[in-house]
Amino acid sequence: MKAVVYQGPRDVAVTDVPDAKIERPTDVLVRMTTTNICGSDLHMYEGRTSFEEGRTFGHENMGEVVEIGRGVEKVQVGDRVVLPFNISCGFCKNCERGLTNYCLTTQPDPSAAGAAYGFADMGSYGGGQAELLRVPFGDHNALRLGEDAEEKENDYVMLSDIFPTGYHATEMAGVIPGDSVVIAGAGPVGLMAALSATIKGAAKVMVVDRHPDRLALAEQIGAIAIDDSKTDPVQAVLDQTMGLGADRGCECVGYQAHDPQGNEDPAATLNMLINSVRFTGGIGTVGVFVPQDPGAKGELAKQGKVAIDFGTHWFKGQTMGNGQAPVKRYNRRLRDLIAADKAKPSWIVSHEISLDQAADAYRNFDSRSEGWTKVVIKP
Ligand code: NAD
Ligand code: ZN
Repeated sequence: MKAVVYQGPRDVAVTDVPDAKIERPTDVLVRMTTTNICGSDLHMYEGRTSFEEGRTFGHENMGEVVEIGRGVEKVQVGDRVVLPFNISCGFCKNCERGLTNYCLTTQPDPSAAGAAYGFADMGSYGGGQAELLRVPFGDHNALRLGEDAEEKENDYVMLSDIFPTGYHATEMAGVIPGDSVVIAGAGPVGLMAALSATIKGAAKVMVVDRHPDRLALAEQIGAIAIDDSKTDPVQAVLDQTMGLGADRGCECVGYQAHDPQGNEDPAATLNMLINSVRFTGGIGTVGVFVPQDPGAKGELAKQGKVAIDFGTHWFKGQTMGNGQAPVKRYNRRLRDLIAADKAKPSWIVSHEISLDQAADAYRNFDSRSEGWTKVVIKP
């Protein structure tokens, strides 16, 4: 089958790889209909992680079931399904508590937790930027869609990751109706956090970034755009909240954040949020901060250290939640909002491409070329 394969830093190619197949009785095999490029793929694409050459990318996946293992009871051949990026078993200590983002059995390393398709340090599972994908524990890991699956394909595919991830940021921040919310990053994840805060009834949603095209997408759903290349975002948030600071903050950038001068500074967004969220407010961090990893390739990635204004955070009595999103916790609810036309996450899709165009798309998305917000691949 054809697949998007990592060849080295900033180098992907579409090559022939062995077909994905059923390996265990509980697997299902999915023919990919849509698979997205994610900001998380860029950690590996840029060579910052220990991702192996020759491996296939892709954890934002949707398709049609073409084969099921003999132990699969619920999912059927022909079902249209979207696949949470977290691969989980459903029966371990963490899954039982709804923490499918930290599944203990799908990650072979006993000191680790949490698995994903086509991802560094999260098991050796194949990615979905290919024609076929093997889905472990298919009854648990495939979310079935209704009759409108094809018509709303570009909406439903966002349930695999970024819509629940943006939602998770607002959950960890504690967003409730009437809140003011500041979001760091107008990338796909930040825009989904803005959508989620709006769905939850936030009174004011402020989105900070410096890419005019991305900020314009935030404005399209009623958010206030703050361009941090032109204005101090902390002051802008204070001005919008009568000097108090926002009730909630969502970190949707991660360790590749830039400082006001545009230089990489992994602490930039967390410090912006700590200083612009009010006393006792909440912050939800879904942007990726990599752990200390001597095997990683980038210097920042190796260190895993971030110098945040912890004293201010402590003094203000703020709360902060961090980590991967437990996609399954939210994706039925978010699916049903899409089905009812109450959420349309596809408004951020900028490019629909074939597998063969992936190398060019990675280049443009990685350089945040104007107008390249979210790429969906149609294998
Ligand atoms: P992206 O890189 O396309 O978007 C990030 C945006 O942040 C860019 O538009 C950039 O200009 C902006 N930015 C950089 N520094 C900033 C600053 N100081 N202030 C404000 N904005 C700033 O990526 P994405 O696809 O939106 O993903 C964002 C992050 O979320 C990544 O780290 C990704 O790995 C992570 N992620 C986490 C989860 C999870 O489960 N926790 C899931 C998906 C993605
Ligand atoms: Zn993703």
